[in-house]
Amino acid sequence: MSKVIDVELRSLMKKFQNNIVVQDFNLQVEQGEFVSFLGPSGCGKTTTLNMIAGFLDPDGGDLLIKGQRMNGVPPYKRELGMVFQTYSLFPHMTVAENIAYGLKLRKISKSQIQERVGRVLDLVKLPHVADRYPKQLSGGQRQRIAIARALVIEPSLLLLDEPLSNLDAKLREELRDELKRLHQEIGVTTIFVTHDQEEALSLSDRIVVMNHGFIEQIGTPKDIYNRPASEFVHTFIGKTNRLEGEVAGHEGDSLIIQTIGGLLVEAKSANLMLLPGQKATVFIRPEKIRLSADTAPEGRNRANGQLKLSSFLGSYTECEVQANGHSISVKLQTVDKGVELVPGKAVSCSWDAEDVLVMPAERG
Ligand code: ATP
Repeated sequence: MSKVIDVELRSLMKKFQNNIVVQDFNLQVEQGEFVSFLGPSGCGKTTTLNMIAGFLDPDGGDLLIKGQRMNGVPPYKRELGMVFQTYSLFPHMTVAENIAYGLKLRKISKSQIQERVGRVLDLVKLPHVADRYPKQLSGGQRQRIAIARALVIEPSLLLLDEPLSNLDAKLREELRDELKRLHQEIGVTTIFVTHDQEEALSLSDRIVVMNHGFIEQIGTPKDIYNRPASEFVHTFIGKTNRLEGEVAGHEGDSLIIQTIGGLLVEAKSANLMLLPGQKATVFIRPEKIRLSADTAPEGRNRANGQLKLSSFLGSYTECEVQANGHSISVKLQTVDKGVELVPGKAVSCSWDAEDVLVMPAERG
């Protein structure tokens, strides 16, 4: 079956005065997909979302929704549901009136309105707050109502602009799970703006990683995490160890790098286009590193050093090891028997060649 494309952005561009803030943005969002725009503050996420919503007009390129060119079409003609970072409920209306607002504008009958408001309140698990005013709700409840209000019009597309970022950590996680459940239940095509890596990884079918108005990479959460297209993507998504060095040589499908501290790192399936003598950067995720107490001679993918810090964080322990002039960060789910996590102790770090990522050193 051919895929249905709900949203298409073709070479979209936006500038404010002479400042280009979104450039060469190309994306196709399939029907039912959950796509996140992820990137640091100011990278152009909201600007892109606002062009899709119709609050901003593109200065170049085309925007298509359900195959129709939408450049210049006002927001109310796009049949979109939107939820913003700040609670945008009308304070003088009850929850039910807030949700019903969009339906009244569309001249839906009273009985239909009542039924649909009831249905979305059930969907967000808040059927008992229909007669309350927004100020009588908690922050999390207000965002659920904002989501219900966006969904009640049965939008063809749901646009969410950092809807969880004003909530405290626990509530944020709760509502994140709620969003995931809602999406699984109703399957509405969704575009979600966030600067939070975990949110994007846990919710999305695909993530668009943005930087300075450009797309760095588009991929599934696993792709983005395990096969980042650039150093920016790798370091933006989760913690990593970054060791600078030089290519020492090739062996079969492995690349051998010597770090500036003298460690020998073997990387499997690495970028074999790198030539001996070329400057390269090695990346290893902290959770891919093992820690042991034995200090057998150093070898490939093994560094002997001294434990500097260890922090117990409940489900895992974070350690910092000083080895060959490198500060290596290690994240342990379980601690091997015999390893005493006491600062000053001699420890050995090791990792697998499959877990090493190598990129040419960035110029400048
Ligand atoms: P954040 O996560 O902080 O919301 P963002 O990735 O959503 O950031 P945008 O809000 O899209 O970023 O802004 C992109 C760039 O465009 C920024 O440099 C911002 O200062 C600029 N910008 C946004 N709106 C305007 C405007 N109305 N006039 C001038 N510059 C603007």
